[in-house]
Amino acid sequence: MSTNLIKINYRAHGFLDFGAAKAEKVEENRRSFERFLTEGRNGEMGYLARNLEKRFDPALLVPGAESMLCFLAPYGQAGGGVAGFAQGVDYHKIVKDRLFAVMEELKSQFPDFEGRPFVDSAPVLERYWAVQAGLGFIGQNNFFISPEYGLRTIIGVIVCNIPYERFVPHAPLAVTECGSCGACLRACPSGALRAPFELDARRCISYLTIESHEPLPADLAPAAARRGWRFGCEECMRACPWDKPLTPLPEFETHRAAIATMTDADWAALGEEEFEQQFADSSLRRAGLGRLKESS
Ligand code: SF4
Ligand code: SF4
Repeated sequence: MSTNLIKINYRAHGFLDFGAAKAEKVEENRRSFERFLTEGRNGEMGYLARNLEKRFDPALLVPGAESMLCFLAPYGQAGGGVAGFAQGVDYHKIVKDRLFAVMEELKSQFPDFEGRPFVDSAPVLERYWAVQAGLGFIGQNNFFISPEYGLRTIIGVIVCNIPYERFVPHAPLAVTECGSCGACLRACPSGALRAPFELDARRCISYLTIESHEPLPADLAPAAARRGWRFGCEECMRACPWDKPLTPLPEFETHRAAIATMTDADWAALGEEEFEQQFADSSLRRAGLGRLKESS
């Protein structure tokens, strides 16, 4: 291995793993993604149908793109009916702040460095690029799975102008697919995971409690039918043998204690102003207080 390869001190920035992939037009997956859209399985997530060309060609998103630098940020367990990734500050901010810090470091070493950070907020195929970067594979439950670190990571991506060959390559993985145990399909309470790799967001409790503005489907309105999930759902994640507990970044934990003590009555009594103050920096605002109350 050349001694001139670029090493990123990703652990100092809180990331568990790092890998680089060549930024090139994506041909695979496009047909299944378009079928997902044509069948309306994206529900109200109309943004998924926009900027398709950019989604499948990073050079259209970031002119001069050469590399996709992929980082895994760890989060913790669920609590109080709220998914693990939403127990603290909004993950977009947590991960983006840390990507900016990585970019500062790269800029200090390479004055010509140019890049843009992305965390699930632009047409970027984060999971695809993390696979290309050698960090893991996609499970039948559609989660990105790192054989070393499991499923509880948020993928951050920096699209940059340095060729990917210049970065230290990720060590080869011993395992490159999830297997076919089917536990995730059996665990899904709503039938949203209707076949391996096939998600119908319109039935997914995670989508319904976070993204959707429509009333909950009648059969999923009772909390018991949603296994008590108020914001998100981790049933297909918890069932997966690759799931493992991680030590979360501290910012992912800042609201855990408050969420844990909230009863249905507390949520019902919570006023809009108080909610905005208490959870100003949280992903919970994405659902809105009305939905959080409705999901009791
Ligand atoms: S998040 Fe929940 S509802 Fe959605 S596919 Fe997984 S188990 Fe099913
Ligand atoms: S539960 Fe089994 S089939 Fe589903 S993603 Fe995990 S290993 Fe794959």
